[in-house]
Order: sequence, then C-alpha cells, then structure tokens
Amino acid sequence: MRLHWHRSDLRLVDNRGLAAAAGAEGADPAPGDGPALGLFVFDDAVLDHASPPRVAYMLDAVDSLRESYRDHGGDLLLRRGDPTSVLPAVADAHDATGVVWNRAYSGLGRERDDAVRAALDDAGVPVAAYHDALHHEPGSITTNAGEPYSVYSYFWKKWRDREKADPYPAPGTGALATPDDPGDLPTAADLGFDSPEADVPAAGHAAARERLDEFLAGDVYDYADRRDYPADRCTSRLSVHLRWGTIGVREVSAAIREAKADAPSEDARESVEEFRGELAWREFYHHVLNFNPEVVTENYKEYEEEIEWRDDPDEIAAWKAGETGYPIVDAGMRQLKQEAYMHNRVRMIVASFLTKDLCCDWRHGYAHFRERLVDHNTANDNGGWQWAASTGTDAQPYFRIFNPMTQGERYDPAAEYIKRYVPELEGVNADDIHSWHELGLSERNRLAPDYPHPIVDHGDRREEALAMFKRARGED
Ligand code: FAD
Repeated sequence: MRLHWHRSDLRLVDNRGLAAAAGAEGADPAPGDGPALGLFVFDDAVLDHASPPRVAYMLDAVDSLRESYRDHGGDLLLRRGDPTSVLPAVADAHDATGVVWNRAYSGLGRERDDAVRAALDDAGVPVAAYHDALHHEPGSITTNAGEPYSVYSYFWKKWRDREKADPYPAPGTGALATPDDPGDLPTAADLGFDSPEADVPAAGHAAARERLDEFLAGDVYDYADRRDYPADRCTSRLSVHLRWGTIGVREVSAAIREAKADAPSEDARESVEEFRGELAWREFYHHVLNFNPEVVTENYKEYEEEIEWRDDPDEIAAWKAGETGYPIVDAGMRQLKQEAYMHNRVRMIVASFLTKDLCCDWRHGYAHFRERLVDHNTANDNGGWQWAASTGTDAQPYFRIFNPMTQGERYDPAAEYIKRYVPELEGVNADDIHSWHELGLSERNRLAPDYPHPIVDHGDRREEALAMFKRARGED
C-alpha cells in the first residue's frame, strides 16, 4: 500500500498526490503500489503557530475528509506528533511501499518535508511529492531571463495564457485502504485550543463546492463592479477553502471556464476574468514566498536605512480592538473578531492605517491577522501586509497613503458595512460618519457618546509617515 500524507489538501477530488497514490486513471506514476492509505498528522510544530479559528476549521475539514474516505470504502488515519517520526512509524506498521504528498511552498513547510523525506529515506521507503496547490508551480512562470517575477501584471499575462494547459486530474478515489486503527478525531481542547470567539464557516469539500456554485451562479458576473464594496457580500469567500485545499484549484478553474462560457454579456465575461486575476494574485504570492522564504519576517524591498516604525503599544491595542475612532477601520477590525474574516478592500484600509497612520511595523499586523483570520496563509497574508506597508513585491508606493475617511465614503457610501459592525454609530447619518474626524468634540459626544474620538490626526500622521519613509530612503 502507498501512504498519502494530507496537509493543506483536505479533499479526495482533484488531488494530484492522492490520485497518484490510489493509482487513479490518468494520474501521475507513484512509487510502490496501491491502494492508497490517507494519513493526517496533527503536527505539534504546526499547532504552535495555529489559532482557535484555524484549528476549528481544520478539525471540521479533517472530519469531513474522513467521511469522504468512508463513503468511498476507505478511511483516514489520524495521528499526532512529529511527522519525522510518525511517517516512518506508520509506513512500517502498514508495510507501505511508497509515501506521497503534495508540495508545500513556504520555507518551514519545505524544511519539514525535507526532514520527513530524509527520515523515510533512512527507513528505505521511497517518496514522491507532487505539484498540486497551484495551477503553475514556482519556477514555471518566469521572465524571459528565467527569473521569478516581482511584478504581478507580467506574471498574470503568462499565468492567464497558460491556464488551459493544466490538466484536471481524475478524482483521487482509485483504490483506498482501510486501516485497522484509524485513530480518533481530537477535539480543539485535546490540541490545546479554546473554541473560537468568531463564527467559522462550514468546512469540507461539499461546503466549498456549494459556495463555489452559488458564487458562479450569479455574483461572479458583476464581481468587477461590486467586489470593492464590503457591505455587498458578493465575493466568493473561497479563501478559507483554498487555504486548506478543501477544494482544488483545477476544479475551481474548470467551473469558472463553464461560467465564462455561459456569461450573459461581454461585461460579465470580463468580470469572470477579473475574478481569475485574483486567483492569480494568490499564486503570485506563493511564488514570491517560495523564492524568498525570508519575507515571512523580513522586508522584501530593501531601503537604504531601517524604517523607524513608531510602534506605540496603546495605538496598536486600539487598532486591534476596533477602537481607533476611524469608522471603516474599526468596522473591519470588528468583522475580523466576529467572523475570523475581513473583506479585501477593508484589509487594505486597516493595513494602511496600521502601517502609515500609526506608523507601525507591518509584522504586528501580520501576527494579529495570523491569529485571527480563518483563511490565514503565509503567502497571501504576508503579501498583503508587505504590499500595504510599501515593503513588498509590486507594493503600494510609499507615498500612496489611503485616507481612511475617503476610503469609507467611496466604498461604503451609506455606511451600511460600518453600522453592521459598529453599533455605536447606528443612529448617525453616513455624512457624519464619513467626516467623524472633522466634527467637534461636543458634536461627536452628542451623536455617538460611546464611540471613540479619532486616536490620531490623519493629516499629521500622513506627513510623519512620508518623513519616515524618506529617511529610510536616505532622502533626509
Ligand atoms: P475573492 O475576491 O472572491 O477572491 C478569490 C480568491 O482569490 C480568494 O479566495 C483568494 O484565494 C484570492 N485572492 C483574492 N484577493 C487576493 C489578494 N489580494 N492576494 C492574494 N490572493 C487573493 N488572502 C488569503 O487567502 N489569506 C490571507 O491570510 C490573506 N491576508 C491578507 C492580508 C492583507 C493585509 C490583505 C490586504 C489581503 C490579504 N488576503 C489574504 C487577500 C484577500 O484579502 C483575501 O484573499 C480575500 O479577501 C478573501 O475573500 P474571498 O475569498 O471572498 O476573495
């Protein structure tokens, strides 16, 4: 039998490694012989970086994966510990003739995989790793000189034009094995986690596919016009499913191709294309991380001097609590707390506010998002933060500083999103909300006595941020 080690690929269908392990029709070759035995390891090193919402989603997704195995005559083996010892032990106990997995692209993931491969080599068990989580593997989309792209628009052109070449592998349900001792699904408490404060979405392939179908049945056709308006919940909400691989990228793209063919107008077709562009951003950041694993802690872009971040603990605390007195920022931070999710436009606004109004190191924001977001993944979270902080690949130029009030006015004109998450502003009209920082103290106290006054002056802080970046650029 062959072992397939599931990590961020918690599904049976469109799973390249599992299809190979199971000997499914049209699948890649794999070492050893089938049937496939699925394995998930609760890895203590990974759990050290986990958080309640992500653990809740992961447990639900593993449970659902186990159900899928059982529905197809197999079962999922569950173990806990260090994969460098668990994998050889499981391979030995089940007489595995080969072990396979789908590749990881983060520095830590690759180090772990190398260590497990070495342990299996020592045990004499052959290993194969497959490219699965992205349409295009890092290294396959490069400049003409063979370098990885650092500018998204060039990357996108090649990504877009090559997508059709990517085959859609057969479902990974060739031949599945049933272990004698599959192991029990632990609870969050068993793993050392509390239940999340936030509502976490339903996990698993069926939930992901349902979300995809719902989105492609309507919202995708005007995604381009509506995606930036957070009150209008029109985006796909697929990020968490792509993060855990409860749906595969080829399955998503095959469905998108159908939606595009059925599009009612040229505008609708372009809108579908814009959505594809977002999937390409996801891959762009995975490539960046793959080639630059140090970006997890270091700026991608080098400045002449260290950036002298202000890092005021009280301001950071107010930002985390959604108590900055900037309504759109506070709404976003409270959405994050309640839903373990935040709309993309608002992620950009709160990240700009932290790094450019509070002049705070992006690493504080990244750590907070990592703790709170159910869709957190290193590549996209880091890419988003470094973009906002003007330290990343293809980042926002340092002098582009979002005005949080103007952003609120433009993208949440009726303050519907703001009021959804900031009940203190319920009875205040949208104009007053969007000019909160300009109102006098007594006017603010009269309108919403429980809502904070702005903790900083945007105009002053804008100047401060520009000066901070100019010093870092050696211009002062
Ligand atoms: P849709 O608009 O429906 O987009 C479809 C898919 O495309 C998403 O599910 C996602 O996989 C991908 N995508 C969309 N926008 C981006 C983007 N800007 N960068 C990379 N991929 C994108 N995304 C994450 O998946 N995990 C994160 O941890 C994460 N952290 C972020 C942090 C910051 C500071 C910022 C500015 C953005 C971050 N993003 C992250 C990107 C984006 O905000 C989310 O992917 C998106 O909001 C998820 O909602 P959706 O699935 O409805 O997106």
